[in-house]
Amino acid sequence: MNNKRVLERFLEFIKIDSPTKSEENFANHLIPILESFGMKVEMDDAGKKTGSGCGNIIAKLKGRTGSNPILLSAHMDTVSPGKGINPIVDEGIVRTDGNTILGSDDKAGIAAIIEGIQTVIEEGIPYGDIEVVFTICEEEGLLGSRYLDYSKIHSKTGYVFDTGGKPGKIVTKGPYHAIINAKFIGRESHAGVAPEEGISAIQMLSDAISNMKLLKIDDDTTANIGRIEGGQATNIVSNEASFIAEARSLSEEKLNMQLEHMKTECEKSTKKFGGMLEYSAEIIYEGFDIPENCPVVLNAIKACDNLGFETEIIESRGGSDTNNYNKRGISSVNLSIGQNKAHTVGESIKVDDLYKAAKLVKELILLHA
Ligand code: ZN
Ligand code: CA
Repeated sequence: MNNKRVLERFLEFIKIDSPTKSEENFANHLIPILESFGMKVEMDDAGKKTGSGCGNIIAKLKGRTGSNPILLSAHMDTVSPGKGINPIVDEGIVRTDGNTILGSDDKAGIAAIIEGIQTVIEEGIPYGDIEVVFTICEEEGLLGSRYLDYSKIHSKTGYVFDTGGKPGKIVTKGPYHAIINAKFIGRESHAGVAPEEGISAIQMLSDAISNMKLLKIDDDTTANIGRIEGGQATNIVSNEASFIAEARSLSEEKLNMQLEHMKTECEKSTKKFGGMLEYSAEIIYEGFDIPENCPVVLNAIKACDNLGFETEIIESRGGSDTNNYNKRGISSVNLSIGQNKAHTVGESIKVDDLYKAAKLVKELILLHA
């Protein structure tokens, strides 16, 4: 392990802008690093489906022990505002100047994976086959891992390095996530001269939303109207109003109940006012729930124990590439790597947590050798 190198690489990575869909410069920086380890590196064509400047990076290291391959994964894209990041290292913490996010979500994961692999190679430690996937578009509905070319992946076990908190947390449960689009269509009319001839789309929309159960629904389920739009001028009865919303749940059944409820309220209000409704709800990714006695969980616990990290099994309300990997038959957990206040300009990471994340990668490689 080379602590200085992990930190330097992390800082180098976050200075290369890689907002969602523009990951290509960062990917082009990573590929030669992986190749310098003797890895076979390729890019899939997921970028064509997501509209990104590049695809997912798939890199393979041939093992020396013949044991089953493992997947190590993190995502390349970052949220906004994430351009021109100026990292500051102060008293063992990396933060930004306050104008941007930091990008420890998820470049700390990438730096940790790279250091872990380089270390086992340098130290001449035996290792099995390793498959590394650095995804695009994680922050936009996990699209990169959704469109990953799974025919190129042979691992049945995966570790994603992409969650907050000091190393030791193991996410074994993640939510189902749906996006809802609703458009209410009314009838335009002069608001002063003939309002009775109009049907107000805004009234329909607000009636529907005000009758909806939203925000925290129960222990497993949440729902939120993210944006509303509609209307033109005060003197026109609005003929169009729309919203976009999301619903999530750890339980598929509860998610479907919430979706049904939201749709019913939209239909009721549309009927009450005599308008029309265009409605769609799509589950953009599915949840997962890995039993605690599953090998992937036991290995993650063992690796943390070996390193003296306090372990904690947790469930997440946020999605990660882990959701898609589990759906595609790669039994995977998401591991904490020290990200703090991700998705805000206050994002930071402790340098020590970054080192610990790299140690965890190395330990997992050893355990699977
Ligand atoms: Zn992330
Ligand atoms: Ca994120």
